Amino acid sequence: MKAIRTFAVRPVLSEQLAPLDRLATNWRWAWSDETKALFASMDPARWEEVGGNPEQLLGALGQDRLDALSQDADFVARVHAEAERLDAYLRDDRWYQGLEGDKPVHIAYFSPEFGVDGTLPQYSGGLGILAGDHLKSASDLGVPLTGVGLFYRAGYFRQSIGDDGWQRESYPLLDPYGLGLTLLRDADGAPVEIGLDLPAGRHLAARVWVAQIGRVPLLLLDADTPTNPDDLRQVTDRLYGGGGEHRLLQELLLGVGGVRAVRAWCALTGAPSPEVYHTNEGHAGFQGLERMSELIVEAGVSFDQALAQVRASTVFTTHTPVPAGIDRFPRDLVTTYLQSPLFTSLPAEPALDLGLESYPGGDPHVFNMAVLGLHLGQHANGVSLLHGSVSRRMFGSLWPAVDADEVPITSITNGVHAPTWVHPALTALSERAFGDVHIDRHDWRSREVVSDQELWGVRTQMKQELVAEARRRLGAAARSAGNAAVPAWIDEILDPGVLTIGFARRVPTYKRLTLMLRDPERLTRILTDPERPVQLVIGGKSHPADDSGKILIQQLVRFSRDPRVRGRIVFLPDYDISLAKTLYPGCDVWLNNPLRPLEACGTSGMKAALNGVLNLSILDGWWDEWYDGKNGWAIPTADTAASDEERDDAEAAALYDLIEHQLVPRFYERTGGVPVGWLDMVRHTMTDLGKKVTSDRMVRDYVTRLYVPSAVNERALRADDFAQARSLAAFVTRVRSAWGAVSIAHVEGSDATTRASTGETLEIEASVRLDGLSPDDVAVELVYGRTDEDDVIGAERTSVPLQAQGPAVDGVTPYRGSLPLQITGTFGYTVRVVPRHPFLVSPVELGLVTYAG
Ligand SMILES: *Cc1c(COP(=O)(O)O)cnc(C)c1O
Repeated sequence: MKAIRTFAVRPVLSEQLAPLDRLATNWRWAWSDETKALFASMDPARWEEVGGNPEQLLGALGQDRLDALSQDADFVARVHAEAERLDAYLRDDRWYQGLEGDKPVHIAYFSPEFGVDGTLPQYSGGLGILAGDHLKSASDLGVPLTGVGLFYRAGYFRQSIGDDGWQRESYPLLDPYGLGLTLLRDADGAPVEIGLDLPAGRHLAARVWVAQIGRVPLLLLDADTPTNPDDLRQVTDRLYGGGGEHRLLQELLLGVGGVRAVRAWCALTGAPSPEVYHTNEGHAGFQGLERMSELIVEAGVSFDQALAQVRASTVFTTHTPVPAGIDRFPRDLVTTYLQSPLFTSLPAEPALDLGLESYPGGDPHVFNMAVLGLHLGQHANGVSLLHGSVSRRMFGSLWPAVDADEVPITSITNGVHAPTWVHPALTALSERAFGDVHIDRHDWRSREVVSDQELWGVRTQMKQELVAEARRRLGAAARSAGNAAVPAWIDEILDPGVLTIGFARRVPTYKRLTLMLRDPERLTRILTDPERPVQLVIGGKSHPADDSGKILIQQLVRFSRDPRVRGRIVFLPDYDISLAKTLYPGCDVWLNNPLRPLEACGTSGMKAALNGVLNLSILDGWWDEWYDGKNGWAIPTADTAASDEERDDAEAAALYDLIEHQLVPRFYERTGGVPVGWLDMVRHTMTDLGKKVTSDRMVRDYVTRLYVPSAVNERALRADDFAQARSLAAFVTRVRSAWGAVSIAHVEGSDATTRASTGETLEIEASVRLDGLSPDDVAVELVYGRTDEDDVIGAERTSVPLQAQGPAVDGVTPYRGSLPLQITGTFGYTVRVVPRHPFLVSPVELGLVTYAG
């Protein structure tokens, strides 16, 4: 018979072992090799069995084993030493504490998924793992941040592959207690319940699980509570499970419930109210509406004033240029919720307008979460330089009057958490060679410090582990598929001596899982070359509802089962953090071949690079920014091809060429058994990319470029009963209504001729009609720079303010300024008027700009 509910019963820890509790319930263990080794040593076999989770290990160990360990003085001493290290980690000042100047006292970070560890499957791919890495680096840097998300009972699915090559999904239920989460309880010990009033008198309740990620709490809302009727208990059943209203309910719970959970957390722990709210992708956009609603009720401000205040304190990060990655809901569905008592006193109409696609090319019947994010976030960014520029074009229609390169979306390139992603063997090598574990901070180029033999030895060890893991996984898959005997060839797949190329990711079409199969005969020749073979290790999950992705997986799996190649190309099922940690370090080359420019950043290649793996990639995302000719290879993009088919053919051919003519010769060229030229590239990769690709760098960028400015403005607007928020809102209303009449009547320059010499100064006069506005409300700017053949001023331009020369005469205000000529070449200028207010972050963020002529 089947139990209707299961739970973990954990043995009691003796006094000597009591600190194990602290060590197991703080997820800091997930990036501490020492803490993991401590737990593993309690029972190595069990540790493997429970997938390497301390809380589960404690639950699985018998009282006898624990009693024995209590008597083991060495072990007890190690427990206390580790606990002391954890306490110091939580207590000591870190980077943020030394940061000078105003800085936020608390930041709330919202994300629909968090990838903290393989044993906490609350993520589907890059977005979630990035969020997990963000929390870990915030913790390491001492940034006072709180993560906010949902607790999905089945998380994301586990993948297996059938005999037919088709992906199968299963959804094991998670027991949060057994994983090391704790339930948020009030002062009387009762579980805190967050409530949302829904349409038709319904009520959605959620409990809050707390996962302590080092110094950073992560609050996860869980609708599976007895207070809810059965259907509402399913709201947090799965990550990205349903569509439509189910997804909308998840996002309402994440956004609205998330803010309420943060309030409860602050009230119970005494943490200060967050000053900055960062939403990782648009899914949590309702957090802004909830905070506006709060302000309207509690501070008595108007809708526009609340909007000004919330915008100032919101950072919105967009993560994808692929439309399917953005949530869009029917307008009417969202209206139902906006008109319900959910948002206590937020007027529904203007709130709806914040998310509608009511711009040229949009669908005004659609409520778009990215549009909501951009309207509510005065600071917005993409996740690589290229993606920033793609996003400015993609979302440019929200600011129709603004040039694409000025659309107020900046970029901060993603990064990865080095202590999580660097293989322990490499960390140990760093410690031997440099005296500390920070592989990303060292210069690996000197053979005196680290010899080729030593470096290659560690690289080879990592490859051997991957080979063993691949055989183990495929063997286990064959056994669980019911095969009486595991086929003998599985024990011979892959060879640690062979050039190994890895490729694993989610399987949306644009990532082109099967590009490598474009010419199967050529690929077969490459793989089976008798002298210098190549092997491919592949993984990837398709979204359960995406059959086209499953077809790609099937094609690949079928190809890989051909006896001619099966030892050299393997598909490893159930790609997740645990597999990734063996897979990345175990490859020589990491392959990525998306359709440029659809990969916003990509982070798997960064994790590979930190492990001394060379990248072979289309120049997309981060690789477009940091490929330098010596750290790997760029697959040329054929984006001028006549069709998608031709493009794939051309890019696949370029990929084969690179493998045959660049990778293979360099890898197999040996001196004393070591690929010296290859290791030159490895050393360069680790030294140069190490500094750039870490999430420590990323989080520092977010703090200094977005969180600090945002907190400074949020405080200033809030002061004196929201005096500046009121003033900003009044300003916005005034300039919006008057802007139609603003014009530049006339511009006069002292350059009668079109030739000039450097060192000269041109005097510029402009006559500007401001109608109802005053010169204090606007900036009149002279914008100049090099021009192209169409007289367009390029992106490298300068603007200088023109000064108003006295009062308006006949409605015309005279302005004057001078233009220094410093650069040679074809040069042009124009004059423009933009709104001016100390709390605008970008002069064009209101979309109001008037040009001369
Ligand atoms: C890093 C990572 C990803 C994201 O990789 P991309 O290069 O962005 O596709 C996805 N899944 C897992 C398990 C990862 O570790």
